[in-house]
Amino acid sequence: MERETLVTLLIMICGGMMLQLLALWPQRRPGGADPAARERQAWLALCRPAAPILVWAAWFIGWALLEPDPVRDPLDPYVIVSLWLPFGMLFGRAIIRAVWSLLRELPECGVSTFGLLQPQVAFSPFLARQLDEPVIRAALAHERAHARHRDPLRIWLGQLITDLQWPWPQAQWRLRTWLEALELARDEEARREGVDGTDLAAAMLASVRYVSDLTPHQRASLGGTQLAHARLVGDPESLRSRVSRLLAPLPPGPEAAPARAVRLHRSLVLSVVVLLAVVVLGAAFGQLIIRPLLALTT
Ligand SMILES: [Zn+2]
Repeated sequence: MERETLVTLLIMICGGMMLQLLALWPQRRPGGADPAARERQAWLALCRPAAPILVWAAWFIGWALLEPDPVRDPLDPYVIVSLWLPFGMLFGRAIIRAVWSLLRELPECGVSTFGLLQPQVAFSPFLARQLDEPVIRAALAHERAHARHRDPLRIWLGQLITDLQWPWPQAQWRLRTWLEALELARDEEARREGVDGTDLAAAMLASVRYVSDLTPHQRASLGGTQLAHARLVGDPESLRSRVSRLLAPLPPGPEAAPARAVRLHRSLVLSVVVLLAVVVLGAAFGQLIIRPLLALTT
């Protein structure tokens, strides 16, 4: 078997197994008064179960660096059928859904942000014609906040991570909780740029009315869970609490954005260093785990 094929199979088996186990990890609703901090907590909780895939991948890649190619007949057929097949189907389902979310037509939802690498705001001219200028500005400020944070890409990744933990409801709950926190954070960001909360609430209610006037076929396109775009109105069930927050006075400012950016940068650097260390460990000790794991012949 080719070395790269074996590494891919091993990542899917071990990563998939860990994902399924970690999907059951109990999660608390993010706390604190700052919507941006709650959004970060919810995002980390959503992504955390996927970390083992990166660690396993780094370990196996490290091992493969010193392994001769092709690897000498390493896999027992029983291992392929009983271990890889279910995880292969799980990965295949998640990838098909992720690709479909990119290929499908953008659902008509009035105001939304789409595009993984270069996010753009889509604003229906039919909806804009019904709104006053300050209300349009408020909706655009919310969507531009989505674009600044590359939320369509993050939503797409969050959906993919959730699909890899199918069918556990805990994973769906983490995705819903994050999407809810995300909308509150973007509302707050728009208001801190000077948008009036009342205008943003008016834009949201107008967007809900716009969607309710769509044809049944157009409304059906809003369903499903294959997400790759951000909307002005996310989960309709959270609309009441969002409007209440928008009509309340803006609370004191949170931690400065540069401080958050520095912390995020440090976390990313630390993650890369840890993964490189795992690659080195995989190169040194990889076979101690991999050979017994798959009954390799030595
Ligand atoms: Zn939004």
